[in-house]
Amino acid sequence: MKILQERKKCIGCGSCSAICPKYWEMTEDGKANLKGAIVNSKELHELEVEKIECNQEAADSCPVNIIKIKHVKD
Ligand code: SF4
Repeated sequence: MKILQERKKCIGCGSCSAICPKYWEMTEDGKANLKGAIVNSKELHELEVEKIECNQEAADSCPVNIIKIKHVKD
């Protein structure tokens, strides 16, 4: 599955990094980074993961709803 973040809309609230520090960290520009993510063709930050772990809670906690979980079949 993939974790996706529309980083440019991040308001820097810090929820994701507080709830899920294994995957999320706050950076100097005041926005959250999805650790190890690449920027895809839609300018979304994207990370492929085996297990969702705390990313669901991070997505649920995001006040601007820019963290998405994409379940890719097969
Ligand atoms: S929860 Fe959402 S708005 Fe808050 S820092 Fe994380 S990505 Fe940004």
